[in-house]
Amino acid sequence: MRPVTRPEWGPRWVGVAAGLAVTDAFGRYCAACEVRLSGPGVAWTAASGEVVEGVATAALWPDLFGLCDFCARAATAVPAGSRGEPLLPDRDATFALGPAAPFGYEPGPLELAAPEIGLRSPHVVSRVGVAPRSERAAETARLFALDRPVVLTPVPALGEGEPEPSAELAVQLIESRDPRLMLRTEAWQYANEAAELLEQARSVAKRAELARMVAHEVASQGFWSVWATVLAERLRDPGLLWSIFAPAAPRPPGAAAAYQPAEVCFWAFPSTRDEWLVETAAWG
Ligand SMILES: [Zn+2]
Repeated sequence: MRPVTRPEWGPRWVGVAAGLAVTDAFGRYCAACEVRLSGPGVAWTAASGEVVEGVATAALWPDLFGLCDFCARAATAVPAGSRGEPLLPDRDATFALGPAAPFGYEPGPLELAAPEIGLRSPHVVSRVGVAPRSERAAETARLFALDRPVVLTPVPALGEGEPEPSAELAVQLIESRDPRLMLRTEAWQYANEAAELLEQARSVAKRAELARMVAHEVASQGFWSVWATVLAERLRDPGLLWSIFAPAAPRPPGAAAAYQPAEVCFWAFPSTRDEWLVETAAWG
């Protein structure tokens, strides 16, 4: 979950649809799952846990976030009484490097329940899950269903004697409806491939050049935290992380001179917090 600093409420958002205002402030990515949005986010307020229709206001602003349809549906489906306290990207440490990281990203088995995918028995696939490392991180994953497909249109149940579709087809069908886990898994795979290329770069100048290309991938795919986690764990290179993931921050100590802030990420990921970069100074 990309950590952000909430900009002060301002006249530019007066009379603007709440979803558009939060997308303008934080970028075109879901605040919870980090998928890239094809349009403005669904405005959701952490104050009541409900979706906000209509325009943004100064009163709503402190608790407004932009979600994708799936995270919004999941969060509003939880009854008010049983809602826990999720981590929120403008006030909690929703991202860190090393042992302090609230979420890990690792491939693992994901069991899809039979009724969800229109089969008679569950099916296991390998997807990159969010591994929560605290109770509140677990609550966050539960509330936004970060590790479960959210079925907006239910798959019709199989009738008596009706032939079962192949499991692959059933999984494809469910993931065409909620692609978040598949896209997160893709981002993780791309990030690992990119890390391999960066590891093989023969000079810092070459690595900095590759970093500019990687920045475009991150901006076009989303899943900022997945990319940042993989590249941090594999390369331990402060300049690389700064140039892609916190280009608005001051250059951290230990950053090679060849790195430049990636403009594409500067514009794509506004308001990103950067306190986690401090950790990289210890890598010296
Ligand atoms: Zn989402």
